[in-house]
Amino acid sequence: MKEQIVVMGGGVIGLSCAFELQSRGYGVHVLEIERCGGQASGAAAGMLAPYSENLESPDEFFRFCAESLRLYPEWQRRVKEISGSSFEYTESGSLYVVYHEADMLALEGRMLWQRQHGSSATILQGDELFAAEPQLSRDVHAALLTPEESHVYAPDYVKALEEACLNIGVQIDEQLGSLDLTEWQDGIALRAGDGRVFKGDKLLVCTGAWAQNMSEKLGIRIPVRPIRGQICAYEVQGDLGQTHHMIFSSQGYLVQKANATLVCGASEDMAGFDRTVTGRGIRRLQQWNKKVFPVLELKEPFHRWAGLRPATQDGFPLIGSLNAASRVVMAAGHYRNGILLSPATAMLVADGIEGKEMPEWSYAFRPDRFGAV
Ligand SMILES: Cc1cc2nc3c(=O)[nH]c(=O)nc-3n(C[C@H](O)[C@H](O)[C@H](O)COP(=O)(O)OP(=O)(O)OC[C@H]3O[C@@H](n4cnc5c(N)ncnc54)[C@H](O)[C@@H]3O)c2cc1C
Repeated sequence: MKEQIVVMGGGVIGLSCAFELQSRGYGVHVLEIERCGGQASGAAAGMLAPYSENLESPDEFFRFCAESLRLYPEWQRRVKEISGSSFEYTESGSLYVVYHEADMLALEGRMLWQRQHGSSATILQGDELFAAEPQLSRDVHAALLTPEESHVYAPDYVKALEEACLNIGVQIDEQLGSLDLTEWQDGIALRAGDGRVFKGDKLLVCTGAWAQNMSEKLGIRIPVRPIRGQICAYEVQGDLGQTHHMIFSSQGYLVQKANATLVCGASEDMAGFDRTVTGRGIRRLQQWNKKVFPVLELKEPFHRWAGLRPATQDGFPLIGSLNAASRVVMAAGHYRNGILLSPATAMLVADGIEGKEMPEWSYAFRPDRFGAV
């Protein structure tokens, strides 16, 4: 019989790994102290945008993101089929807008490396640009069109992942209040707030921004910090006509969802584990939003929320098993790209647990690379 895997954390990363591992024949038990999808994963804008999120040059992280985008069409089809639920997956493409002639050189540089790495990116200007996005501000000088990027409706996607997990036999226990690791050398044991003890053969730590809480216990530095993202949405029934692309700029992004809302994000503030939405944070977004779509000048967002992105010290996630505790595997620290990276993370984690050889670029994500406590 294959090993029993206990997954700590029921965000998009924990659920995706659980789904893949159970599909490959492992017995999986997800333990969540609150509600599955109740933290960063349910707050995300759902963009699958490896090119727009990696502006400078392609590194290991970009390769991982691009691989995940490649996996998405089949992955989302599987999740929909097995969960029996639908969620938005839109292959919209994206426009990265710039406002000044002086930005053209950087935009062209980005287009060239994107083309070398699987994109058919082009630069749009003038009539061509405004035909593609008629409501775009006429102050926009040019935009880099990356047709390969897409987006999902994150709350529905995470819900479907949870249902898919349950349908194939993953056990899920939520609202545990607290969960402490009590044994990780000869086996795995965790004690929940209500006194219940959960056991398994391996532990997969997918606790997002809370991953650093395991640092002392496991004896390794886990430099993961919460970065608050404040975000808002407008109702846009008819107002924006045929806005189909995700719009990115140096100040943020806007993405129109199939439910006629325009999701606009997001701030990057350090506020500890505080998820409060501030007037200042949302006003800053509004100032920028109307510079992209002037029609938003007359509108107020109907929904404002925030989530905590798990950021690591070097910007790379922590994925793989620990040298000093081979029963413990980590998958955390996905910062701004956890929704995008969910399929590739699930594959990498499952391949690692099956003992397959890891791709060389994935060594950059070794979870113990920051040394001992
Ligand atoms: C505003 C915003 C917009 C974003 N937009 C995008 C986007 O467009 N595209 C994209 O790809 N990504 C986006 N992200 C990033 C993405 O949401 C995260 O990278 C991703 O959700 C991280 O997933 P996770 O499962 O690691 O963390 P989480 O979703 O935070 O899940 C971690 C879970 O662990 C639980 N937990 C904590 N401690 C314990 C414990 N001791 N025991 C058990 N469970 C525990 C928590 O309750 C939580 O449910 C966005 C994030 C924010 C905040």
